[in-house]
Amino acid sequence: MTELAAVQIKQNVTRVQAQIDAACERAGRNADEVTLVAVSKKKPIADILAASDAGVQHFGENRVEESQEKIPQIDVPVTWHMVGHIQSRKARHIPPLFHIVHSVDSVKLAEKLSRQLTDEARPLDVLVQVNVSGEAQKYGFEAFRWRDDRAIRGHLWSELEQIFALPNLNVRGLMTLAPLVEDIEQTRPVFTELALLRDALTDAFDITLPDLSMGMTDDYPVAIEEGATIVRIGRAIFGEREG
Ligand SMILES: *Cc1c(COP(=O)(O)O)cnc(C)c1O
Repeated sequence: MTELAAVQIKQNVTRVQAQIDAACERAGRNADEVTLVAVSKKKPIADILAASDAGVQHFGENRVEESQEKIPQIDVPVTWHMVGHIQSRKARHIPPLFHIVHSVDSVKLAEKLSRQLTDEARPLDVLVQVNVSGEAQKYGFEAFRWRDDRAIRGHLWSELEQIFALPNLNVRGLMTLAPLVEDIEQTRPVFTELALLRDALTDAFDITLPDLSMGMTDDYPVAIEEGATIVRIGRAIFGEREG
């Protein structure tokens, strides 16, 4: 990687952090309530180190194989977030690599992860991925119209109840992906819905779910205004991805 790229990444981190601060300010929140996760998928080690140099402490990856190759090469202390879909047969690779998983999208995967952790001293922090937008998405628990549709809510509640009961997972909250839209304002109802769902689950199960992982390069200011505690940002920090 050229020196110029490292400088560019550092400028990007500064700019994104300023945008996060501004969104917090607008929403009357403290900037330290929002964790920036730099999503480094498809990007080289040097780019990760440049962002780390710029003060980023949290990084996200979305593929098991790529993570197995890259994560052991990073010898500065960072927190690793798994943000992509995990095939349940690959669940055993996750706990040694990652500190938190955003993409728990089935009871089966949650069970596999929990079983994997019996020998570990720590529970694994996880977020449950839900689809609140109604858009046809590949992954995430179906939660569109959960407020109006009793059947959808009942099904969702019974699946999540099984996950909350697992011994070795610490469920910290919810994650969602907003659909691609022309106008960033169109993402706002999706983020509002995730926050409402979190509040409903907190009441129904008498648990705390402190984290909302929502907001990416195109929509993170709105997500923060609607309560995001974790934003997952790739392109605004590392530039466009190839392929
Ligand atoms: C790639 C990815 C991101 C980051 O996307 P950008 O649009 O580059 O900010 C966030 N979350 C998930 C789950 C991703 O796969």
